[in-house]
Amino acid sequence: MSCCGSFTPLNAAMKRFFTLLAFGLLALGVARADDTAKAQPKPYPLTVCVVSGQKLGPQTYTFDQAGYEVKLASKDYLPEFQKSPMKYLAKLAQAYKSAKPYPVGICVVCGMQLDSTCYTFVYDGRQFKICDPSELDDFNRDPNKYVKIWDAATARVAKEKAAAGGVPVAPAASGNSTMTMSM
Ligand SMILES: [Zn+2]
Repeated sequence: MSCCGSFTPLNAAMKRFFTLLAFGLLALGVARADDTAKAQPKPYPLTVCVVSGQKLGPQTYTFDQAGYEVKLASKDYLPEFQKSPMKYLAKLAQAYKSAKPYPVGICVVCGMQLDSTCYTFVYDGRQFKICDPSELDDFNRDPNKYVKIWDAATARVAKEKAAAGGVPVAPAASGNSTMTMSM
């Protein structure tokens, strides 16, 4: 225990130390968030090779680049991809941007109610939501099954909207117009 006279400057020094510590922790938190984003790249949104446009088969070559999962029909297309990666990554970004919205508030894999921490990704022009990225394995086992669920749910929601009198459904050529109507 020292006298009060020498306590004041020490207190100031400690204050500065804790401020620095707080900033350090904050920076650490930001770095952590970056790591998580890196560890979970956005799932590949297309059903075909982003370079050749070929359907993806057993030769599919998968890797991560710039936060995206990338799939090529085979490793033979990797040199072509690496010639202009930005061009191909832009295609993936565009697929994410132009995807049709997820129609319901429940997880497409397990059917549980979604909350604000749910995980969103795009596949085959459709936005999907699941409780947690760990459910991607289930999704990837049979993506077409979930595409069918999405289509059925979207059709049902559109029908319910029409029945509620909110959106008048134009006969025949309604397909696209009801999808994009968000107001
Ligand atoms: Zn779920």
